[in-house]
Amino acid sequence: MKKEYLLTPGPTPLPPQVSAAMAKPIIHHRTPQFQEILKEVGCGLKWVFQTANDVFIISSSGTGAMEAAVVNLLSSGDTALVVQGGKFGERWTELCKAYGITTEIIDVEWGKAVSPEEIGKRLKANPQIKVVFTTLCETSTGVDNDIRAIAGIVKETPAVLAVDAISGLGAVDIKPDAWGVDVVVAGSQKGLMLPPGLGFITLSPKAWKLVEVSKTGRYYLDLRKAKKALDKNDTPFTSSITLISALNEALKMMQQDGLENIFKRHKIMADATRAAIKALGLELFAPTAASDGVTAACVPAGLDGEKLVKTMRDTYGVTIAGGQAELKGKVFRIAHMGFITESDIIMGIACLEKVLTQMGYKFTLGAGVKAAEEVFLK
Ligand SMILES: *Cc1c(COP(=O)(O)O)cnc(C)c1O
Repeated sequence: MKKEYLLTPGPTPLPPQVSAAMAKPIIHHRTPQFQEILKEVGCGLKWVFQTANDVFIISSSGTGAMEAAVVNLLSSGDTALVVQGGKFGERWTELCKAYGITTEIIDVEWGKAVSPEEIGKRLKANPQIKVVFTTLCETSTGVDNDIRAIAGIVKETPAVLAVDAISGLGAVDIKPDAWGVDVVVAGSQKGLMLPPGLGFITLSPKAWKLVEVSKTGRYYLDLRKAKKALDKNDTPFTSSITLISALNEALKMMQQDGLENIFKRHKIMADATRAAIKALGLELFAPTAASDGVTAACVPAGLDGEKLVKTMRDTYGVTIAGGQAELKGKVFRIAHMGFITESDIIMGIACLEKVLTQMGYKFTLGAGVKAAEEVFLK
C-alpha cells in the first residue's frame, strides 16, 4: 500500500473542499448560476492579487498567461528587458523571440536574485525598452526577487513592469497597486491550491496603453476581448466551469485565512525546511534570496540526485522536485506552497532523511526533523 504526498512547486495538493467542488454536476456557463460564481471569483481574485484592476482568467496553464502578456503588450520589433535567473526567466525570452521582440537580457547567476539597480541602469541606457519581464519566485532555483524594489525603479520610467508570479502568488507577498507592478501573471496549480488549467493576468492602466497599440496578431489571448466580456461579467469563450467553481472554493478558504496569515505560514514552513536542510549538513542552493514558496537544496557530492527524488517518490510516495535544465541531478526542491501544512513538511523531511541514509549519506538521523520542529515550536 502506498499513499501519495505532493511536495512539488506545481501541481500542489488539493484541499478536499476544492476536490468536492469539482465533483458537482456541471452547469452551463451562460447562466445566472455561473455568473454568480464568476462575480464572486472576480472579487476573490482582486483580493488575492491585491489589486483594484480586473483579473482575467484564461483557460491555459500559467505559460498561456505569460504569452498573453507578451502578445498584448508588445509588437514585433519592440524591445523588452528580461531578467534571466533560471528556467522561468528564460521562458520570457523564448516567448519574446517567438514574436520577433528584441530582448535585452540581464543574466543573473542561478541561485541569486536580480539587482534592482541593474534594471534601473539598463532602462537608463536604453530608453527603447518598453517592458521589463521578471519573476517573483524563480521556481527553478528557489529564489524570490525583490519585486517591490524593482517596481520602485521601473515605475519612475515609461517602461511597464510584468511579473511572472505563477508560483509566488498566494505564497509570497506581491502588491501590484501599492508597489507599482503593472502586469502580474499567475497560474492555478501552485499557491492557489487548484489543479493546473487556469492562467491569470491583471494589468494597470499604464499597461493597457500598450495593449491598445500592440500590433501583434492575437485571437484567443486578446485581452481586449476578455475585457469586453468581463465588463458584462462574462468570458469571451467557454469558461473552464469546473476549475472556476473550484477556484471559488479555494478563494473562500484563503479569505477565511487572511493574506497575512497565509504569508506568515509560508514563511514559517520555509524557515523550518531551510533549518532542516542545514541541520542535515546540506547546502541551500539560494542562501541569500531563498523563496518562501520552495526550497532548493544542493545534492551532496557523490550522491545521485535523480535517484534520491525517484526513490522518495517510487518507494515512499513522497514526490519532491529535482533540478531543471542545468541543475538536473544537482539540486532537489521541496515546495511549501498552497495546501501544505507543518505536518507535511515534517513527513517530507523524515522521508528525505530515510532515503539519504539508505544512499549512504552520513548525518545524525532525525536532525532535520528536530530542526524543523524547533522552528514550528517557536
Ligand atoms: C510553474 C511555473 C511556470 C509555468 O507554468 P505552466 O503552468 O507550467 O505553464 C512559469 N513560471 C513559474 C515561475 C513557474 O513556477
